[in-house]
Amino acid sequence: MAYKFKGGVHPDYMKSPQTPVTVIAPPKQVVIPMAQHIGAPCKPLVKVGDYVKMYQKIGENPAPVSAPVHASVSGKVVAIEPRPHPLGDLITAVVIENDFQDTPELMEPLTEEQMKDPEAILQRIREAGVVGMGGAMFPTALKIRGGIGKVDTLIINGAECEPYLNGDHLTMLNFPEQLLKGIQLARIAQGVEKAYYGIEKNKQDAIDLLNSLDPAKYGVEIVPENVKYPQGGEKMQVKAITNREVKPGGLPSGVGCNVISTRTAYAIYQACYEGKSVVERIVTYGGSALAAPVNALTRVGTSFAHIAEQCGGFVKTPRKIVLGGPMMGICATSLEAVNIKGTAGVLFFTEEEDKNIEDPVCIRCGKCITVCPMNLEPVYMYLYYTKRDFDMLEKYHVTDCFECGSCT
Ligand code: SF4
Repeated sequence: MAYKFKGGVHPDYMKSPQTPVTVIAPPKQVVIPMAQHIGAPCKPLVKVGDYVKMYQKIGENPAPVSAPVHASVSGKVVAIEPRPHPLGDLITAVVIENDFQDTPELMEPLTEEQMKDPEAILQRIREAGVVGMGGAMFPTALKIRGGIGKVDTLIINGAECEPYLNGDHLTMLNFPEQLLKGIQLARIAQGVEKAYYGIEKNKQDAIDLLNSLDPAKYGVEIVPENVKYPQGGEKMQVKAITNREVKPGGLPSGVGCNVISTRTAYAIYQACYEGKSVVERIVTYGGSALAAPVNALTRVGTSFAHIAEQCGGFVKTPRKIVLGGPMMGICATSLEAVNIKGTAGVLFFTEEEDKNIEDPVCIRCGKCITVCPMNLEPVYMYLYYTKRDFDMLEKYHVTDCFECGSCT
């Protein structure tokens, strides 16, 4: 049974699992940004006029903190130029005119022997461009490699505690055996005997399904977790599974843990068993501006404008486009920006959902202190922020805030 973490909140989750998952029709052009990860951006490996195949590597950077990017359709490269990036700014992207053939360029699946070899698995994870697909986008091979010898507990994050989002839940329901195999590979690469899959109890159907497949056979234990936001925070997952506390400013690896997301484990399966690089994922589309909210398999490089059109268009003008969940998501600034590997959700909010209060007045009731999962004192952080007193902000450990939004 999972341990409880202090603080947290119970927002209205507004989840609507839908099975089977629908598909966003691939667009006429995909725009593949060269930066879809934390670290050094890739340099294009192709030039205008080249023909590329689906899954083909089209961008690479040999820097240690980086991950290659791949084509999500087959077709002709028609431009390599700065394009709007979902995280803001203009970033170099390879634009591919879709020939709608999906002609693939797959890697050879790993052999049985290679699947027992941590180095072979890690090399494949890197080559396939696998990154933290919960949203952090840190290169996964590096994350696992950095923990070898230090980490005794591998945790798979299946909390999916953000309102709206249910792509992980649907991945569990639609690909349970593949997920367990992906976790097994991550566990072998990490060099640990057992992995723990923490899943919030509001996904009981997925917990039952995964348990029915004898997870112990894959070296996996399913751990049902309490439903409380932000259960999916890495430090909360570590607490829930091991009862260990990550020190302020520390990382899970500092207490012998590594945490990877559900969708990342599935990407590891696809890379090793199917030879597929990361070019698509299930994304949750929601918000009251959309005519038909849906969970849909979507190619990397699909513009938000195309996605909205495929979801029946807008019934109201969106005021804000939120990437990820409403608690921790960030705002996109252009409908021409595209979804990338770390995009778990795209929410088109109207003023109904986006209720800002101008110049809010804090009356120091202290409720924010009771819900902060990091034991911080947001009331004082707010006070010193308004005074622009950065020394005091530091003293109140502002850098330990991971912007979960519970205090808000
Ligand atoms: S201070 Fe930061 S970590 Fe604490 S509740 Fe607020 S947003 Fe979350």
